[in-house]
Amino acid sequence: MEENTKKSGFAAIVGRPNVGKSTLMNQIIGQKIAITSSRPQTTRKRILTVYTDEVGQIVFLDTPGLIQETGNKLGDYMRKVSIGTLKDADVILYLIEPSTYIGEGDKEMIGLLQKAGRPVILVVNKCDKVAYERMLPVIDAFRKQMDFDEIVPVSALKGTNCADLLATIFKYLPEGPEFYDEETVTDEPIRDITAEIIREKALMLLNEEVPHGIAVVVEKMETREDGLTEVYASIICEKDSHKGIIIGKGGAMLKKIGSASRYEIERLIEGRVYLKLFVKVRQNWRDNARLLKELNYREES
Ligand code: GDP
Ligand code: MG
Repeated sequence: MEENTKKSGFAAIVGRPNVGKSTLMNQIIGQKIAITSSRPQTTRKRILTVYTDEVGQIVFLDTPGLIQETGNKLGDYMRKVSIGTLKDADVILYLIEPSTYIGEGDKEMIGLLQKAGRPVILVVNKCDKVAYERMLPVIDAFRKQMDFDEIVPVSALKGTNCADLLATIFKYLPEGPEFYDEETVTDEPIRDITAEIIREKALMLLNEEVPHGIAVVVEKMETREDGLTEVYASIICEKDSHKGIIIGKGGAMLKKIGSASRYEIERLIEGRVYLKLFVKVRQNWRDNARLLKELNYREES
């Protein structure tokens, strides 16, 4: 008789904004779920993804990067989600970039990790950017701050050493049945992923004049009998002047955002998409609790 010795558990991915948490998760899952960009704070909500192989199942919890006190409600929400995730995890992946400088954000993070009482893997990401010799001083600097259970250098972008990282994660997971069936890659509804894709394209195409003050709501997403999926979505910004920039001259910018988004949504749902975008102004939406709720930044406990 063969015993069920499969492993199964939760791995939280934490670290400062922009260190590559979403990229790592996408690399491991092999599918674009968490959106990535070169701007910090791209990931606002907690995103759950599932990796399954013959060893077992890892449920990854991607988090908004731990951010400094900002004083607005969205910022507070993002902090809460990050800190709450640590308590849910069997193992924590603490991502850093290969730099020996340890700033306030990382010091605060290390403080939380020490209190979490969970095994912590220090993942030194972006190892494709520096020579091997330059990794050692980085590891030394961080080791002085905390006694990590494991240290694994990786390149989330290139996939280097990701197999090693998976094996290391499995070491810390308990034996047990899978939480999700093998086909599952995420619990994020398609609609939410669609909204995130549009937000990513908007952030990518707009210049710095419209910074983090946009949100995207998918108002309607329905597949017609002929197979075409209709998507109606609104881009919400804070100022009339931003609305003008998002629409662009003769609607050119909105058109660009639309076609870039449509292409990616079609790949996601593997079908044809008709996408209609609207732009709405909601002053101070980041401080409006009701609106945040509508936009789906729900509290999780
Ligand atoms: P997050 O805020 O921690 O989720 O970071 P993202 O995953 O959004 O990545 C931030 C930026 O770093 C993006 O421009 C990524 O392409 C880049 N990046 C992530 N991982 C790597 C890596 O391993 N190597 C390099 N060179 N760039 C990376
Ligand atoms: Mg992210």
